[in-house]
Amino acid sequence: MKQAKVRLYVDHPLAEGQTVSLSREQAHYLFGVMRLKDGGLVALFNGRDGEFPARIIESGKRAGVLECLAQSRPLHMPPDLWLCFAPIKKARTDFIVEKAAEMGAAVIQPMQTEFTNSERIRRDRLQAHAIEAAEQCGGTYVPEVADLMRMDRLLDAWPDDRQIMFCDESLVGAAETLSAASGHRWAIFIGPEGGFSDAERKRLSAMDIAHPVSLGPRILRADTAAVAAMTLWQQALGDWA
Ligand code: SAM
Repeated sequence: MKQAKVRLYVDHPLAEGQTVSLSREQAHYLFGVMRLKDGGLVALFNGRDGEFPARIIESGKRAGVLECLAQSRPLHMPPDLWLCFAPIKKARTDFIVEKAAEMGAAVIQPMQTEFTNSERIRRDRLQAHAIEAAEQCGGTYVPEVADLMRMDRLLDAWPDDRQIMFCDESLVGAAETLSAASGHRWAIFIGPEGGFSDAERKRLSAMDIAHPVSLGPRILRADTAAVAAMTLWQQALGDWA
């Protein structure tokens, strides 16, 4: 059987024989942009049921229907890793969300720190970026982008068993690593352009489950730091091994 060239996320249950109706935007993308025709194949996933090749049985300018064939890939869950970061400029925040979805975060948690500039985010827009990244990278899971939350409130309700990889720019040059750390539930903390405040750094440093980590001898921009931290974490404790 031919391979589907296009992967599409649908918010719809998937199973062999299941028909899926397309939204106007999805129909435009498949038939207007990608020029697919009746009988063509599309790989569908919904973040829950794995991936299914689906045959186009109706196509139109504004609508369409697909029918799922047998499952081609099961759901692959990422490690239980949250990426907690302070939103920065729009394009750089988009980059962080896209990379977190590609690199295998389970939850993306924007957090407002003392020195965070943006007080609002467009959660729906960021979620759409996470979906696009999953479509592109072959992921069968889509990380949830949570609502922006104040860092102090996030820590007030912090689960005892979730370790924190605290990326602390004040450690620049120090050889702090994750090598001695363990545990299955983790979160990475990345500060804003202005860094963490002294009070925030003090609070995190006082938590037994927070592990201060250096990302090398130079201060990285927050978006670079997010990618570097996820790389280190995945390599040491995640599903890259
Ligand atoms: N304004 C801060 C300063 O000059 O000290 C720099 C903040 S940095 C642009 C943004 C975030 O990236 C930091 O809060 C930290 O979480 C992370 N980061 C950047 N470079 C790092 C490093 N070398 N080690 C650990 N974390 C780093």
